[in-house]
Amino acid sequence: MNPSNSLEQKLLIEKENISNSKTNSVIRSRFEKIDLNKKRNGILENKTFLIKDNIAIKGEPLTCSSNILKSYKSPFNATVIEKIQKEGGIITGQTNCDEFAMGSSSEFSIYGSVKNPFNSDLVAGGSSGGSAAAIAENLADISLGSDTGGSVRQPSAFCGIYGLKPTYGRISRYGLVAHASSFDTIGIMSKDLTDVYKTFSVISGIDKKDATSCNIPLNDKFSFKASKLPKSIGVVNKNILKDVNPEIKDRYYLLIDFLKSKKVEIIEIDLPFFEYCIPAYYVLTMAEASSNLSRFDGVRYGNRSDSNDLSELYVKTRSKGFSDEVKRRIMTGTYVLSSGYYDAYFSKALKVRRLIRNGYSDIFKNCENLLIPTTPDLPFKLENNLKDPLKMYLSDLFTVPINLAGIPSINVPVGYSSNNLPIGLQIVSNSFKEETLFSLAHILNEEEIFEKA
Ligand code: GLN
Repeated sequence: MNPSNSLEQKLLIEKENISNSKTNSVIRSRFEKIDLNKKRNGILENKTFLIKDNIAIKGEPLTCSSNILKSYKSPFNATVIEKIQKEGGIITGQTNCDEFAMGSSSEFSIYGSVKNPFNSDLVAGGSSGGSAAAIAENLADISLGSDTGGSVRQPSAFCGIYGLKPTYGRISRYGLVAHASSFDTIGIMSKDLTDVYKTFSVISGIDKKDATSCNIPLNDKFSFKASKLPKSIGVVNKNILKDVNPEIKDRYYLLIDFLKSKKVEIIEIDLPFFEYCIPAYYVLTMAEASSNLSRFDGVRYGNRSDSNDLSELYVKTRSKGFSDEVKRRIMTGTYVLSSGYYDAYFSKALKVRRLIRNGYSDIFKNCENLLIPTTPDLPFKLENNLKDPLKMYLSDLFTVPINLAGIPSINVPVGYSSNNLPIGLQIVSNSFKEETLFSLAHILNEEEIFEKA
């Protein structure tokens, strides 16, 4: 078959799959804009990509699933989009997510909830739930999401796919709508580990448009074939696992047994300041979000409500534009930053963050990788956590510490529960050591320890 025919075939199948999908994962496709005759040479030649609706694609809507940006179109490309296209990747559409990437279930969206591809009564996870569900349903080869506190890894676990959260600063954030700038990362999801790596190698690197991007080169000697097991790996003690679903725990211990049988040294660790991670994370991210979202005022961006009075215009626009969860975060964030409360909350949370970071750097003095669950439980029922924000926040228990520390982590699918729901575990490494995540994930995949979908 000639290559452009086979590409055409692939795009037709994916387009058809998107229109038959029942998960509400893809909110917009753009097949009509794809030039089949264009030469696409490069590392990502003819790979299809779906993009979370908080990453800018020139000429396309960029709504962040929010009413306030419903009619906004991006006039520019995010750096990651430019890089993907330069290496032959094809952007086929955009995915549903929680409003401004705030949430853990992809239910806070003007487009409605994303459903889990394995059971439509359950959530797909969030906030990049659309990107994860779409990959599980074979709607594209690769998707991009954003991970501020787990939004790539948690939905990847709930949908049974790989999901990489890179080191903070490894991938340019230019063109990613800011949620909490000192936490935000762009992450990569796929069923195929090689595709995750290829995308990672293409989109990482310094970018003059993002002052927090880093100039630390990837290990050019890395190859999957040369993958080695780490000499030592950190695992968590029973106390930390006490509230974790028993079927997730079983998989965790199975993996530890495998590593032991391969003579990897198992080091039991305590996750640094574990019980303080969720409060510190929410104090800091809400503070940053309240400041980042102040630009959405109806004057510079987005839908504007009518009024002759400027203050009233702001109030009306923002009251109508944001939904409850986003308002809750803006108000809490403003509160923790206000004079009189700044020291009690914001500045204290910053100090806790520093201790957590130091704790993780100490751990990596003794072991190359860490193995921890991605989620405390299996995918939960739609609407179950909507009325209880604290319960929703607790589903990020094992992912937010990684963002507080700024280190990388990958969700690895490790089989299915007795009721056929995906289970995921996280491999974590020190900053800029992503190659070690790929090595270990590759070995686990080759060994076929866990059943595949
Ligand atoms: N669920 C977390 C939150 O609501 C993480 C969100 C994210 O990573 N974008 O903040």
